[in-house]
Amino acid sequence: MSYVYDPENIFARILRGEIPNKTVLETAHTLAFHDIRPQAPVHVLVIPKGAYVTFDHFAAEASAEELVDFHRTAAEVCRLLGISPGDGAAGYRTLSNAGENGHQEVPHFHLHIFAGRPLGPMLAR
Ligand code: AMP
Repeated sequence: MSYVYDPENIFARILRGEIPNKTVLETAHTLAFHDIRPQAPVHVLVIPKGAYVTFDHFAAEASAEELVDFHRTAAEVCRLLGISPGDGAAGYRTLSNAGENGHQEVPHFHLHIFAGRPLGPMLAR
């Protein structure tokens, strides 16, 4: 695997405090914040603080501590926002775009969490 991380991408700049964000939750290894152009009533991005480009890059190279922290933080975001079916809510969708065919705009791995309305079929055809 060979990924080159661009340290000037917008999420790297958010992590360095150069650009403001609307934080939902922050931990030692993970930041969750509201998307600047929300595509649903709830649209939150969860990112690792480490320099990973895509989901597969993160999954392959992050430490166990980073991996657990990322997933537990995403789960905590679902709990905080009251969107988990496990809490009786109507649910949500997670999605992560990678590369050109995945239409990834920001080359720092991120998980989108959408909720707050019926989200329709998985992919537009
Ligand atoms: P993707 O196409 O999966 O790479 O998604 C990138 C997402 O980042 C889009 O939903 C953008 O609206 C969002 N985004 C870009 N810049 C910012 C920013 N400064 N703060 C929050 N979200 C952003």
